Amino acid sequence: MIITRTLPELRAAARHLGGLSFVPTMGALHSGHVSLLAAARASGRPVAASIFVNPTQFGPAEDFNHYPRDEAGDLAQLEAAGCDLVWLPDVTTMYPPGSATSVNPAGPALLWEGAARRGHFAGVTTVVTKLFGQVQPEAAYFGEKDWQQVQVVRQLAADLHLPVEIIPVATARARDGLALSSRNRFLQPAERARAPALFAALCEAARRISSGGAVAPALAAACATVTQSGMAVQYIALVHAHTLVPCDTLAHPARLLAAARLGTVRLLDNLPVTQSDASVPDYP
Ligand code: AMP
Repeated sequence: MIITRTLPELRAAARHLGGLSFVPTMGALHSGHVSLLAAARASGRPVAASIFVNPTQFGPAEDFNHYPRDEAGDLAQLEAAGCDLVWLPDVTTMYPPGSATSVNPAGPALLWEGAARRGHFAGVTTVVTKLFGQVQPEAAYFGEKDWQQVQVVRQLAADLHLPVEIIPVATARARDGLALSSRNRFLQPAERARAPALFAALCEAARRISSGGAVAPALAAACATVTQSGMAVQYIALVHAHTLVPCDTLAHPARLLAAARLGTVRLLDNLPVTQSDASVPDYP
């Protein structure tokens, strides 16, 4: 595995390997990241991953300084996952003094996380554009765990004619249904025990809506269950899966999106909803 920390090193290694599959991350890797690497490997192309905790996608009151960092552990996981090239830029490489250009996304970036975290998706699309320019991958893999991010990055690649295929990868979950996330380590044990209630509530809402139940009461019931589990619901919504505009009735394709605060952690999750029960995972 080639480890690169400067742009000339990265460019030489990327040219040498050619036609890359790329997995951008902020590190603190877990099995969700590993499933992205496995999907990238399955493409048959050489695999590159980046680790960069991007300051511009954190708000002033957010956890940039406390975001978990574990470079040695991450490199061991990347090596074990068969990664060929790692890109570890520092902040000055990504944002050199005097840089004056950023990306300003609209459309699906304005809703949900974009409304709750002002500037977040501008930070994401700016850093992803830079990473694509640096690594020049043929394909890039993003987790459905961050469903809105996948739609925003697809829109970015389409609008700016970026020559990269955006490939979504299914959400990796703990046995009890909780979507894996680097921030889950900040849940206290009692909170961790309650956290799967978010996914369970989404499954129940998806079942009700997909079997013909009205949308509003299904969402209200999900909010009530999640609130009773000790979380502060920020949103639970049925949306068009790509535009992310809310739907009153079951549109095609549709997605349930949710965000809830549990202690100091914001949990995000989402599920597809179709007219049959087939899309709803088996969950107790
Ligand atoms: P992050 O390091 O949190 O920026 O995540 C890097 C990539 O991993 C993003 O594309 C995430 O959507 C993806 N990811 C994070 N958690 C999961 C998960 N539980 N399942 C699948 N992908 C994930």
